[in-house]
Amino acid sequence: MSNKDYRVLLYYKYVQIDDPATFRDEHLQFCLDLGLRGRIIVAEEGLNGTVSGTVEQTDKYMEALHADPRFADMTFKIDEADEHAFKKMHVRHKDEIVNLSLDEDDIDPNEVTGEYLEPKEFYEEMQKEDTIVLDARNDYEYDIGHFRGAVRPDIRNFRELPEWIKENKDMLEGKRVLTYCTGGIRCEKFSGWLKEEGFEDVGQLHGGIVTYGKDPEVKGELWDGQCYVFDERISVPINQVEHNVVGRDYFTGEPCERYVNCANPDCNEQILCSEENEHFYLRSCSHECRVHPRNRYIEEHGLSEEEVQKKLKAIEESSTQNA
Ligand SMILES: [Zn+2]
Repeated sequence: MSNKDYRVLLYYKYVQIDDPATFRDEHLQFCLDLGLRGRIIVAEEGLNGTVSGTVEQTDKYMEALHADPRFADMTFKIDEADEHAFKKMHVRHKDEIVNLSLDEDDIDPNEVTGEYLEPKEFYEEMQKEDTIVLDARNDYEYDIGHFRGAVRPDIRNFRELPEWIKENKDMLEGKRVLTYCTGGIRCEKFSGWLKEEGFEDVGQLHGGIVTYGKDPEVKGELWDGQCYVFDERISVPINQVEHNVVGRDYFTGEPCERYVNCANPDCNEQILCSEENEHFYLRSCSHECRVHPRNRYIEEHGLSEEEVQKKLKAIEESSTQNA
């Protein structure tokens, strides 16, 4: 089936882990021994990970986890890859496997969560009347790709989502609310939280966008753009039938699906921009970032003060032309 040598695994499970600190140490050693790379979070409430490795390494990993009764039924989403998607292997012990910080209002998804919708059901239900499709991810994830017509919460971090919902409650009132996220983990608690907030009719995309994109029936339809991922690939395709670019170049507004980080290390904001604009604007989101003393674009390209001034002048001229 597969022609590629590597795989990226995405997985999570809300299940009691009694001694997460010890689990963390042993799990890290196990992953290092296998040769995997990636990011895993362990908490008393469960396990959440993305790892990359060869087909053989990832097979061994999945086999070992499935042999543990706690993870016997854990679903792995498998992407083929040409190489590792991470530089290092991290396993971290935290309070939550996804940081939502609900504190005393914390949700146990095994007790309360939105109705699970398989890709085909989600596809059909999202097109029905009186239904709101709500993106449970961050704004920069939405901006490179999302379900057609989905609501875009104006948030930079998942923790901000409950507050944003409280401020924008009206739009959800009396509607069926369908939530989705990358692999499904964020919706587990978030959809449960929505129910606790009094929204009665809440559904969540089971397995998330990546599962939806692999479903042989829906083939990722009604997804526009790419799906943002938190590894070196940055984004992956979802819709197998058509590809509508929804990302827009930060500088010119032209269709664009290329994310870069602002060259000011103190800013580091992710911006969509073409290669051409990266060079024209010194890969910086603002004038302040361009003239930052540790601007990484200037360092990488070894630009002299004179060359920088020349570029700044060109930017100024182009902005007065456009104004
Ligand atoms: Zn910046």
